[in-house]
Amino acid sequence: MVRLSGMKRRFFIGAAALVGFGGVVLAEEEAEQIKVLILDGPQGAHKYQETTPVMKEILEKLPIFKVAHSRSSKEACADGTYKPDFQSYDVIVMNEGYGAPEWPETTKKAFEKYMAEGGGMVTYHAANNCWPNWVEYNKMTGVGGWGGRNEKSGPYLYINDKGEVVRDESKGRGGSHGPQHEFDVVVRKKEHPVMKGLPETFKHGPDELYDKLRGPAENIEILASAYSSKEKKGTGRHEPVLMAISYGKGRIFHTVIGHHVKQMKEGSFVTTFQRGTEWAATGKVTIPVPKDFPNQKFE
Ligand code: ZN
Repeated sequence: MVRLSGMKRRFFIGAAALVGFGGVVLAEEEAEQIKVLILDGPQGAHKYQETTPVMKEILEKLPIFKVAHSRSSKEACADGTYKPDFQSYDVIVMNEGYGAPEWPETTKKAFEKYMAEGGGMVTYHAANNCWPNWVEYNKMTGVGGWGGRNEKSGPYLYINDKGEVVRDESKGRGGSHGPQHEFDVVVRKKEHPVMKGLPETFKHGPDELYDKLRGPAENIEILASAYSSKEKKGTGRHEPVLMAISYGKGRIFHTVIGHHVKQMKEGSFVTTFQRGTEWAATGKVTIPVPKDFPNQKFE
């Protein structure tokens, strides 16, 4: 038997697959998964107790992910004992939301350091609603809504009919959405690792389509947008749906879709969430786009 030392496997591919051509054995001890930590906690409008297990399941469908979970509480935030061990993970997935308790100051600083030094983060749906006054968090999410966000939070970010990214400083509230409906997601950065290989346009929903998001909007790319029509009580603008943000050496994938379990189980959400999480963790994407995307079944 020949051992392939120095060949790094990102994940354990199963005993049967370890013996390859000519009886070559890939070194099992070098197997390495992407370590994911999902964070959630009390919040106003979303059922995090139901969405976190689905999020975990979506990621664990793929053997490259190893997923852990930590839940905050008002008490642990108030007495300073809420201290997730960010450094032990490749990517932190935020299933936080509107009205989430403020983290202890030392925990905020630890997270800022983790991200600035090259950590990964995924901000999912309502995670852009929380903590309007935590300046560095808002730089990480890029744009957000609700919680009193307004022109002081930063510009509105959207795409106009010419396809130009607009940073609009006009006054007004941040964050809104009309009734749930089906919409087309339009890829704007087809060479970005998360988007590469996806159809140029694909269906999603019925789901909430966030609009009027605003924030620092620094170091941000709109990977995909959706047209927010006035007849669905939207803005008449192409609103950001998937985004990539850099914060120091850290990478952030921002998805605004997936209001609840039903929307999360759509192929459009599953694949972009899996690929976005891998990219935030490693800067690369190896997860293929399913042949029947976005109609693949998630059971
Ligand atoms: Zn929602």
